[in-house]
Amino acid sequence: MGKEKYNQPESDIMTHGQNPYEIVKGLLKESVGTLGLNENIYHLIKKPMRVFEVSIPVRMDDGTIKNFTGFRSQHIDILGPTKGGIRFHPDVNLDEVKALSIWMSLKAAIVDLPFGGGKGGVIVDPEQLSERELEMLSRNYIKKITPIIGPQKDIPAPDVNTNPKVMGWMIDEFDQLRGYNIPGMLTGKPVVLGGSLGRLEATGRGVAFTIREACKVLDIELEGATAAIQGFGNVGSMTAKFLHELGVKIVAVTDAEGGIYKEGGLDIPDLLEFVKDKKRYASEYPEAEEITNEKMFGLPVDILVPAAVENQVTKDTAPTIQAKILAEAANGPTTPEGDQILEEKGIFVIPDILCNAGGVTVSYFEWVQNNMNYYWKEAEINEKLEEKMLYGFENVIQMREEKQCRMRDAAYMVGIKHLVKAMDARGWISEKDHSS
Ligand code: NAD
Repeated sequence: MGKEKYNQPESDIMTHGQNPYEIVKGLLKESVGTLGLNENIYHLIKKPMRVFEVSIPVRMDDGTIKNFTGFRSQHIDILGPTKGGIRFHPDVNLDEVKALSIWMSLKAAIVDLPFGGGKGGVIVDPEQLSERELEMLSRNYIKKITPIIGPQKDIPAPDVNTNPKVMGWMIDEFDQLRGYNIPGMLTGKPVVLGGSLGRLEATGRGVAFTIREACKVLDIELEGATAAIQGFGNVGSMTAKFLHELGVKIVAVTDAEGGIYKEGGLDIPDLLEFVKDKKRYASEYPEAEEITNEKMFGLPVDILVPAAVENQVTKDTAPTIQAKILAEAANGPTTPEGDQILEEKGIFVIPDILCNAGGVTVSYFEWVQNNMNYYWKEAEINEKLEEKMLYGFENVIQMREEKQCRMRDAAYMVGIKHLVKAMDARGWISEKDHSS
């Protein structure tokens, strides 16, 4: 981390052409309509209940002071505390953070977790910071959002460019401010500080479970199936590991620096070893040919996994896709135009709010273990994760059959229905809100 090579996307490589908050609002509105609910429901869920903007001054190594901007969005807390990651990236903006917090609410609802959605972000390119500067930024961000977070209020976690090390600094800052240890205040911590076994692998493991189930639906034999993955950070690399274990041949991987391709399948254990100390990018792996992101999208594979950032499957990339399954390991990787094209092509989409729900699920297990102060074995965690992912997958498939709709719409509807149940139980809504 710091100035060493790190999985850090370059801002100019990213194509954030669309506003994710507008995209999520559009999908919420449509799903509320398809469920036959009154538009009042849409108005209740379209806005986060609380958003927070903070300034984060940091004394840089050269003696100057830089003042960074950070956000935290809390969508809805009717099911429990809000929960969601913290992103460090130059393209972070308030609308992105708001959208990500809404997706977190839907995700938690789909796999039936007692959480609402939250999300945080800081506008920063961490690759430009030294380790000390990054630590100061992490500590000062937590200091600034301390009034609105806590194990019963809002529970942060890692996201793009944040990891257990960053979580370690953050929890230390929070504990020092409060004067005692509060392990449940964030998840994705180092295991020695109360982190859960299996958390680091959880999102990728969950992605692989959903792909396995999708293959059953489509009658695709996993052994020998082919896949390409965009992004080789936490989620992309772990997805590769578990797909490889299932017998899938990963033929291409890209990251912010480039991409690699091997027709016969990349040696995934060797590639994981190659990037282990985070000093090298997967795209620098020598035992393969080079490939661009654009070419990777159009490969004749069975499974395509965007596991990087938003807005990657677009009107430009979607027409080239030949995969039968698009597994959205990243949040918001598909634009509405891209989605339309996927539908026309009959590609089976595992939507983000289902596909990557494994991360928040094991974060939930981490929080439960912190609250009990008793820790489970990894096998138990993985088993519970599989149960939750299957529960979510089956509910979405059922909704898809009932409404004869796309997987994405079905996932939104499952999430919204669950939130509506809670709003009902709290007396927020009445009989007339149940019909349009
Ligand atoms: P990460 O920072 O560990 O990895 C991101 C990867 O994407 C890196 O390999 C980076 O080089 C690559 N990348 C960035 N821009 C790219 C581009 N334009 N083309 C190709 N590659 C690019 O982040 P992560 O934690 O793996 O998160 C990835 C995605 O998964 C994000 O959308 C995140 O919100 C989502 N997600 C993460 C978790 C989690 O537990 N970490 C949980 C749910 C969802």
